[in-house]
Amino acid sequence: MASKIRQIILNSLRINKDKIVFDDGEKFYTYSELDYYSEIICKYLYEVNNPSNSVVSIGTNDFFSLCVLVACIKSLHIYCPIDENNTENRIQNIVNVINPKIIFAHRVTDLKLEDYVVINYDDVFNKIILAQPYSNLFTDRQENYVYTIFTSGTTGTPKGVLISYENLNCFSEWFLSKEFGLEENDRILLQSTFAFDLSVMSWLPVLSMGKTLVVLSPKIAANYKKIQKWLQKVKFDLFISTPSFLKLIDLCTNFSLDNFSYLNKIILCGEELQKAMAKRILDTLPNVKLYNTYGPTECTVAVSGIEVTYDLLSYDSIPIGTIREGVEFIVDISNEELSIAGNMVSDGYINNFMATSSNFKKHNNYNLYKTGDKIYIDKKGYIFFKGRIDDQIKWNGYRIELREVESTIRKIDIVSDAAVIVTRNRDEEVNGMIAYLTLKNHTIEFNDYEVVYNMIKKLLPKYMLPKRIEIIDEMPLNNNKKIDRRALLAEKEFNN
Ligand code: AMP
Repeated sequence: MASKIRQIILNSLRINKDKIVFDDGEKFYTYSELDYYSEIICKYLYEVNNPSNSVVSIGTNDFFSLCVLVACIKSLHIYCPIDENNTENRIQNIVNVINPKIIFAHRVTDLKLEDYVVINYDDVFNKIILAQPYSNLFTDRQENYVYTIFTSGTTGTPKGVLISYENLNCFSEWFLSKEFGLEENDRILLQSTFAFDLSVMSWLPVLSMGKTLVVLSPKIAANYKKIQKWLQKVKFDLFISTPSFLKLIDLCTNFSLDNFSYLNKIILCGEELQKAMAKRILDTLPNVKLYNTYGPTECTVAVSGIEVTYDLLSYDSIPIGTIREGVEFIVDISNEELSIAGNMVSDGYINNFMATSSNFKKHNNYNLYKTGDKIYIDKKGYIFFKGRIDDQIKWNGYRIELREVESTIRKIDIVSDAAVIVTRNRDEEVNGMIAYLTLKNHTIEFNDYEVVYNMIKKLLPKYMLPKRIEIIDEMPLNNNKKIDRRALLAEKEFNN
């Protein structure tokens, strides 16, 4: 299917051949290498996958995963990235939802993937010399969707948001417009893995405008000293991340490294930007433009944004943007919930009719998504984020449904029930979760904590792990005979 953004990316691969597209501080790759290796992946897709639609890529933000993404764009397959640092249980859950024919895995994993054709890094990078470009063999294919990104799901099964080429076109026309001035940036930080849609904010401008992705691998990002060293080595002029990650960079560098003199723009997305953090950046990095952007994965990365200047610090909180053309913000007056309608709103979740019909509706021929976010729009048109109406939280930039954590813990056979509460610091920022659980037919033994916590670790990815578990005799219930989370919170306060 013809798509403007797809044509722009394919064209950019052709005209930027000698430019560097990927630089992680150790290795770098050019656009022609990206073009070549993605052709090899197309060969596998042609021989093995055709005509199945979805292609799973298990990796991080490595070059191999980028090649799979580009191959999917070339050959019109749906790119389904999964973070290789997820637990086996979660990866398997996602693979089961997609049921692909072919899986690309950055390294050979211990996963049980016998039912699928698995191609790994070595297959693509070491062995093959191509006699012809394989992407030309897909000209008859039609595919509306470019990628699916999985978010936390209340039932314990992650939901894969389907993003179409039309959605991506719409996002790119706004994000690559003059508003953010990305034309002037050359080297753009890629901090998140491809499995998080924040990555689209980095790879989309890079691939469509022939720029360079400056890639911070999760291994380096997990260690303060390594981050410092890495930052001394690499340069970038556009920093894209969550506020939590920016805070981490501040902690390990005080923004005082020489390399920050190269930086001229910071774009934040994915969670609340606290006023203190905004002020800290404006004070410490006066030559850097700072933007706060907002949006759920279901509405293609971000739907609103604003440049943060000193005058915005006079508000109670930093606005998440202003009303813009082409996006309809509809606020339910009964509970302040925001629904978003327009071309950037997804058609729904892959192979999940139930979750799609409860979160998405039609509105004037457009898709509409009920965000679960509470907002307020003031007279000047500034939009302010006021929290959630449900049990979804953001912790270190990750979106987590408390119900998913609970239902996953309940799957452990000795657990009878589980309830998760959120803990916050003095600034009301989320700083963790505590899981309360009861056990089946069991008096509590001293080492139960360790046994159960080790089981939980096997089921939940690191970013979803409660910082503490409490095994209790009985779940407190309220008058409606539901778990009394207030009582659990009170218990937590008491024990503090
Ligand atoms: P995700 O789908 O992981 O991008 O998470 C989307 C959710 O993150 C939104 O529905 C909001 O709850 C939250 N979010 C994203 N950006 C912001 C922001 N700038 N300020 C406050 N919350 C945000």
